[in-house]
Amino acid sequence: MTVTNTTAATIRPANAEKWTTALARAKEEGLRFFTINGNPSEWFVTSGVVNGSGYVVKVTEFGMRPWATCQCRGAEFNEACKHKAIIFNQLGILPTR
Ligand SMILES: [Zn+2]
Repeated sequence: MTVTNTTAATIRPANAEKWTTALARAKEEGLRFFTINGNPSEWFVTSGVVNGSGYVVKVTEFGMRPWATCQCRGAEFNEACKHKAIIFNQLGILPTR
């Protein structure tokens, strides 16, 4: 199967457990993050794997069901990735159930 684009239908949805796991990995790897131009919807998160690189995380939903995009490989197939998780946690919107 060839994935030609990323749509909601091809992304495995996350649950609270997956978000919690992703956040734990983010903390374990010591990911750092900062806003881009002080905007709470645009962040840069350092890569836990490649030194000196990172990913842009864009948050589009801040409510009970937060949503964000991330440039990392994992986010192509899974809703939850460690970069989004650490930002959701920072914003206080990480899904916990
Ligand atoms: Zn990511």
